[in-house]
Amino acid sequence: MVAGLRATYESGATRPLSWRLGQLRALGRLLRERRSDLEAALAADLGKPPTESFVTEIAFLTAEVDHTLSHLRGWLRPRRVAVPAVLLPASARTVLEPLGVALIIAPWNYPLMLSVSPLIGALAAGDTVVLKPSEIAPATSAVLADLLPRYLDSRAVAVVEGGVPETTALLEQRFDTIFYTGNARVGRIVLEAAAKHLTPVTLELGGKSPAYVDETADLRTTAQRLVWGKYLNAGQTCVAPDYVLATPRVADRLVPLLAEAIRDQFGTDPSTSRDYGRIVDERQYERLVPLLGSGTVAAGGQTDGSQRYIAPTVLTGVDIDSPVMREEIFGPILPIVTVRDEDEALATVAARDKPLALYLFSTDRATRRRWLRRTSSGAVVLGAAVVHLSVPGLPFGGVGASGTGSYHGLRSVRVFSHEKAVLDKPQRPDTLALLRAPYTDGRKRLI
Ligand code: NAD
Repeated sequence: MVAGLRATYESGATRPLSWRLGQLRALGRLLRERRSDLEAALAADLGKPPTESFVTEIAFLTAEVDHTLSHLRGWLRPRRVAVPAVLLPASARTVLEPLGVALIIAPWNYPLMLSVSPLIGALAAGDTVVLKPSEIAPATSAVLADLLPRYLDSRAVAVVEGGVPETTALLEQRFDTIFYTGNARVGRIVLEAAAKHLTPVTLELGGKSPAYVDETADLRTTAQRLVWGKYLNAGQTCVAPDYVLATPRVADRLVPLLAEAIRDQFGTDPSTSRDYGRIVDERQYERLVPLLGSGTVAAGGQTDGSQRYIAPTVLTGVDIDSPVMREEIFGPILPIVTVRDEDEALATVAARDKPLALYLFSTDRATRRRWLRRTSSGAVVLGAAVVHLSVPGLPFGGVGASGTGSYHGLRSVRVFSHEKAVLDKPQRPDTLALLRAPYTDGRKRLI
């Protein structure tokens, strides 16, 4: 199969802009025509409410397709580069060329969006693609395997369903780029496999994305935005605010507002809310439930194993070394960690792995400047959470333990392309004679 995709790539079929635009339009059609099939799959896998599926997966992707369609021609134009005087006359430019055959490995939490969003970049770049959706979201994996070959050029795009054995077999093949989204443990496996073939790798990983709230923030809006970002997809979002840092005074005012925001968004019993999802599988559910013991339950706390339901939960009195603070939570549990002051909050963040996102709720300019300067993260959002994903001009990706490389918009095309350097040096006049030996020639004093 990989050889077939390579043959398609080498035939040049995927190079023309018209082919790429055609594939993107077909992808847009799939998303519009099959919306209900896609929503049904996401509901089966994650109990995702249809509106949430539409907003965070389907509409997100149609916007990305439309954005790429309207900009691709310009993005692919060669870029002129200045030439140093010593080389003149000459002209230099960079051109984006497809890398070849790409492997995309996707996770289960936004199983549609995180499969198709990189696919948009790969098709726009003119690559052929193997997509490996997550076996932990089997309904979405199946619907992708069924629909993508029907809408896209099946000589250029293949979907491989499966888990560890299938992915391991795929990783033995030589690809020209691998785009992996998921946890860091598997990220290391992917990097090791890629090293054998010197294949470049993009790693979209996770980690604990902190939120710091100070007394200058509008706490009511802060609470509403944190609750939305945290409990979206029942907390199974790579950029969900993982924990909140605040001084005891701010925390005391924020916690009741968080509880109120949960009631506003999901009602008094979120288990009956049509807008609240479920934990993806038994394993994740069993991992999450003990974490509820890491603090005092200030809101939520209810669970129901038969539905893999965990209520939107806020924990207070959480020790920085408690289990809930040791790993990425990836579920609907929001610990509030109190700190003496802003300095301690900054030190807490700096002492940990660089997060995928950092959320700062402060209107104080000096505070904002300090956080921007003294912390490193994939992204910083001032005054909100999670929504930076939908700005196609912003790179989406991590730094350090939260990932390598970024995508969205133009960067999605770049990540699946090689930026080739082209220098055009006329042979007459032969100005390069100046650079050649013998260097002791008196006429070459200039150099
Ligand atoms: P997952 O279990 O679905 O794994 C991801 C992919 O790796 C799957 O396709 C799976 O089949 C494959 N895989 C699993 N074990 C493997 C192995 N031993 N060898 C080869 N392939 C293997 O998803 P996950 O990793 O649990 O996803 C959650 C993690 O992903 C979290 O850490 C989250 O923060 C992160 N994440 C990051 C982003 C991002 O954009 N940066 C987005 C979503 C999730």
